[in-house]
Amino acid sequence: MPAVLITGAQWGDEGKGRATDLLGSRVDYVVKFNGGNNAGHTVVVGEEKYALHLLPSGILTPGVVPVIGNGVVIDLGVLKQELDALSSRGVDVSKLKVSANAHVITAYHRTLDKVTERFLGKRQIGTTGRGIGPAYADKINRVGIRIQDIFDESILQQKVEAALEFKNQVLVKIYNRRAISPEEVTEDLLSFREMLEPMVCDTGLLLHEAMQQDQTILFEAGQATMLDIDHGTYPFVTSSNATAGGASTGSGLPPHQLDRVISVVKAYTTRVGAGPFPTELFDESGEHLARVGHEYGTTTGRPRRCGWYDAPIARYAARINGVTDFVLTKLDVLSGLETIPVCVAYDVNGVRHDEMPVNQSDFHHAKPIYEEFPGWSEDISGARSFADLPKNAQDYILALEAMSGSRISAIGVGPEREQVVVRHDLLG
Ligand code: IMP
Repeated sequence: MPAVLITGAQWGDEGKGRATDLLGSRVDYVVKFNGGNNAGHTVVVGEEKYALHLLPSGILTPGVVPVIGNGVVIDLGVLKQELDALSSRGVDVSKLKVSANAHVITAYHRTLDKVTERFLGKRQIGTTGRGIGPAYADKINRVGIRIQDIFDESILQQKVEAALEFKNQVLVKIYNRRAISPEEVTEDLLSFREMLEPMVCDTGLLLHEAMQQDQTILFEAGQATMLDIDHGTYPFVTSSNATAGGASTGSGLPPHQLDRVISVVKAYTTRVGAGPFPTELFDESGEHLARVGHEYGTTTGRPRRCGWYDAPIARYAARINGVTDFVLTKLDVLSGLETIPVCVAYDVNGVRHDEMPVNQSDFHHAKPIYEEFPGWSEDISGARSFADLPKNAQDYILALEAMSGSRISAIGVGPEREQVVVRHDLLG
């Protein structure tokens, strides 16, 4: 049957692994279609804990074919490290397929990411420093290096030289750094040829054939709606499309073949890096959410900014992605609060906005208009059905559902895999 997308509704780190878990063994292919090793998810399988930044989580499920689509930017050193680490722990990684059209992140992309951020000073984006933006910039500028180039040494050499001709001028003359040797970059990329050989293919064709054979394909978005290059809080975004459209352009599967769009949304809001965040808290409520919710970045270790649930953002995510189901995570983090504010609209210079303002400067100045909901003191981590939840928690969920533009089909009530309340089957 279907092609299903899982994406985040907010600024990332919503706990997308929770939704992936709920689909479990019913999936045949897991596709990463955007971003690179800027993502970070910790996957727990039995007693084992795996931290992945680049590979799709499907790599850990026996029988699943993990796919890195054309929309991804790949740091080959990181790919090798993650594969070696998994192999050494007995995980079979031989099924991985990588698009011949995906672009690579090289040493000069990583260097440029760091020096430009430093140069921006107060205006910096707060990137993960992994070279993501510069690699996508090269793709759009048509000076990127693709996986397929690694299989033609002379083409590769020419492309690396062409890319570095301009960049070395910038590195040396503007940033006062050493020039990067095209030979070294070429050699480094060539050293991955043997590893790549069995993985590289036309992944668009692979997925097309999988659909014809009635296989189930899961698309795992890196980052989230509000970090999307087109629909997020530009320029404080990542450099790829993390929304539903990206699943199609980043994989080669036509948009109408996407049957379900699952959006993961936290019961409150977090953000890493810079940029507007209307419900951000600077008081002890924010510290409470960070402490109880363990809000520290998996990739960078940076503390996350925390705030209350923002319903216009959820509605926006529902609209942009065509969300069929929300998975609400970390509801347990709110237990013990006397009242729980929810942002229902914004006040922008005295004018009420019920939807996300299209103008970024309005969003920068948006003040949340809150509605307060009564909290609950019970421990909800043992709840397995909606009826097990305290009345106030039920009311909170129903209110969010009414405001957020799609049904809430599952609710996370604790960090363990089984600590979840399912209201509707995500594939049914
Ligand atoms: P970049 O993706 O490294 O270019 O960073 C751009 C912005 O996206 C920064 O604010 C990062 O903190 C943010 N970002 C990138 N990846 C993630 C993620 O997986 N979770 C949350 N934020 C992210």
